[in-house]
Order: sequence, then C-alpha cells, then structure tokens
Amino acid sequence: MNKEDIFKDIIYWAGRTYKADMVPATSGNISRFEDNIIYMSKSGVCLGDMGYEDIAELDINNNVLNGIKPSSERLMHIEIYKKRADIRAIIHIHCPYATAFAVCHKNMNKPILPEFIYNFGNIPSAKYALPSSYELANEIAEYFIKGHNAVLMENHGLVVGAGSLKEAFYHCESIQAYAKTYFASKLLGKIHTLNKDEVKKIQNLKG
Ligand code: 13P
Ligand code: ZN
Repeated sequence: MNKEDIFKDIIYWAGRTYKADMVPATSGNISRFEDNIIYMSKSGVCLGDMGYEDIAELDINNNVLNGIKPSSERLMHIEIYKKRADIRAIIHIHCPYATAFAVCHKNMNKPILPEFIYNFGNIPSAKYALPSSYELANEIAEYFIKGHNAVLMENHGLVVGAGSLKEAFYHCESIQAYAKTYFASKLLGKIHTLNKDEVKKIQNLKG
C-alpha cells in the first residue's frame, strides 16, 4: 500500500470510530505500522475531523520523522508493535460502555454471547497507570504478549490491536455491542450465562 492509501485508510477508520461514539471529543488514537514506519494520529486531534496533516510518522524507537506530534499514547502503540509482529493496526478508544467496565475494574468475561466468546473469551482490565506513561505502555503490552488482542485500561478506556484497521475497528464494535447488551440485559432481568459445555463447543469451532 502506498503512503496516500495508508493515510486514507487511517482517516476512514478514525472517522468510523468517531461516528460510532467510541472516541468523544479529542479522546482516543489510531495507528498503523507499515514498512518500519508507524503512522499515528496527531496528539489532540478529534478522530472525526482528521486530515492528512493530522498523521504523524515515527519509527519504532519513538523518533518523529515528519515534524507532527504523535499521540501522547505513542509508547503504548510502540510497545505493542514491538511485542507482537502480527499486529499492524491499533485503535485506542474511550467508548463509554466499555470504559464503564474499566472504571469498575471488571474484566469482560461473562459467557453471554457466542460471537464474543469466539473472538475474545475474556478481555482483561489492566491496572491503572498514568496516561502516556511507560508504566501504562508496559502494563498493556504484557497482556498482548500473553495473546490478548483487546485490553481494558482501568479508569481510562480500551485498546485493540489487529492485522488491519478494519479488523481492529470491527473488534471495537463487537466489544461496544457486548457492553451495551450487558447493561441492557441487566436492566431487563436476570442474565443467563452459557454453561461450560456450551462455551467449550463455541471455542472448538475454531478448530
Ligand atoms: P492523544 O490526543 O494525545 O492521542 O490523547 C488522547 C488519549 O486518549 C490519551 O489517552
Ligand atoms: Zn486515552
């Protein structure tokens, strides 16, 4: 993919993320890693209003290459890319429904929806650390090393990594849907979880 296509891809999926109510105001950030360059949303930009001038380029050692200030969470993006060669795109969101789990320090792990069990099983809630800090970056990267592709950040939000931005966005959407369904079900009545046998059968669908 050439640089212009990479920029278009970032702007498109950043816009979808904003329209889906996952990144209110200037919260959240997005990046892609391609040919040893990380393309990342500028710090302080609203993901719904991005243009080419809002994409910073940096290397894996945190050197900015085009004079545009990358997201304050660049260390978190860098650590994930360093630790997981299969991850080529990252979206960090402040989706209110998912963030509620992070505020309550609760993992997303109730076996209520087959699609969620199949894709994630358990989304852990990583210990709170100051936004933008090395501590946060390392804390989150540890979960990615263990194989998680989505991690809640206590009292902050959620970060998702995938092979492409499209895949990362769809994961964010599934997680948002899980969170909304969970809260609506709680209001409606008793939540029925799937039993261990059913969970196993869903996991076995992966082959
Ligand atoms: P940036 O605008 O610097 O990416 O910060 C947004 C954010 O969500 C920080 O955690
Ligand atoms: Zn954030």
